[in-house]
Amino acid sequence: NSTNPPSEKGSVRVAVRVRPLNSVEKSSCGKSCVTVQPPDTVILGKDKSFTFDYVFGPEKGQSEVYEQVVRPLVDGIFMGYHACLFAYGQTGAGKTYTMGTTWYKGSISTNHGMIPRVINDIFERAKSEMTAYDISIRVSFIEIYNEDIHDLLKFYPSSGNVLLNSNQKIGIREDEFGNVCVTGVHEEPVQSYEEAMACIESGSLHRATAAHDMNQQSSRSHAIFTIIFTKSEKGQEGIASKVTSQFQLVDLAGSERAKRTNASGARLKEGISINVSLLALMEVISVLGDEQKKGSHVPYRRSKLTRILTNSLGGNSRTAMIACISPSDDSFQETLNTLKYAHRARNI
Ligand code: ADP
Ligand code: MG
Repeated sequence: NSTNPPSEKGSVRVAVRVRPLNSVEKSSCGKSCVTVQPPDTVILGKDKSFTFDYVFGPEKGQSEVYEQVVRPLVDGIFMGYHACLFAYGQTGAGKTYTMGTTWYKGSISTNHGMIPRVINDIFERAKSEMTAYDISIRVSFIEIYNEDIHDLLKFYPSSGNVLLNSNQKIGIREDEFGNVCVTGVHEEPVQSYEEAMACIESGSLHRATAAHDMNQQSSRSHAIFTIIFTKSEKGQEGIASKVTSQFQLVDLAGSERAKRTNASGARLKEGISINVSLLALMEVISVLGDEQKKGSHVPYRRSKLTRILTNSLGGNSRTAMIACISPSDDSFQETLNTLKYAHRARNI
């Protein structure tokens, strides 16, 4: 029902980003246990070496990460591909900083992360195509916590007024073409970078304040910001020329293992649902990226996260993962876990 292009050979591009040592780590004489060997290798400790598609050391800024990893995904959007970008890693490793949902003021500057840059780029390019095409852009912002989906734009605009449809039940539906969509979630039409950023601001505040313990929930939930992009040739009413692409940007829950000894009740439940969804994500990526597994069953249904990302992970899409790590000695084991996960995603 559209002129979206045929699929590309779908493998996931994987980048590793090392954040700088923070002041606490420095003042407690924390040492870095991570060495970056450009262009693509990370060495943990003395001899654990991993190679990725891209590696960014602590001195690399947001714009370098964007240009190499994310811009090709935006290019894809204009050609009709879907796109998906994940930030993976333990809490405190730099996922939210990299995605950029805490930095929304003003036009793009050095600190702005990937989401503002994607939005900015899409609007800039839309401007130049506006004479030939009708382009419309909508955004949604949701969070998955304990396998429940919450609409972070429910309270948009920031007046705090609940939108009329906010009592709609949120569900996941699959249409006859196999397209999976989340129903009952607000999609805000946006005309400019500023309007889209206002949605991020409002949604991020909501993400943080809905919880009793804000750090806790934001690190135990997956946040998914979606840009829905529709483009059709001017004067060609009719569906034939219409291309709809979706860019999903995902700030994943912290990947740290719940400490089994002191996790019980709610904490344990959280830990289990995070593990299930991060493992399901890996399974889906594995099956999709492995030529030999072509045609085999893709276990999208194993978690809400993978179900919601079905369209963005399937054939007609470009996917990248940024694995965020801390350089600090104290995080050695979690960093090793992250590098292994990221390497598995890439190896296939
Ligand atoms: P996460 O979302 O993975 O829990 P954050 O993005 O909140 O981690 O990062 C933790 C802290 O480290 C924040 O204060 C953030 O500003 C800082 N930080 C993370 N990555 C970088 C970076 N590449 N450069 C500078 N500061 C960073
Ligand atoms: Mg975070």
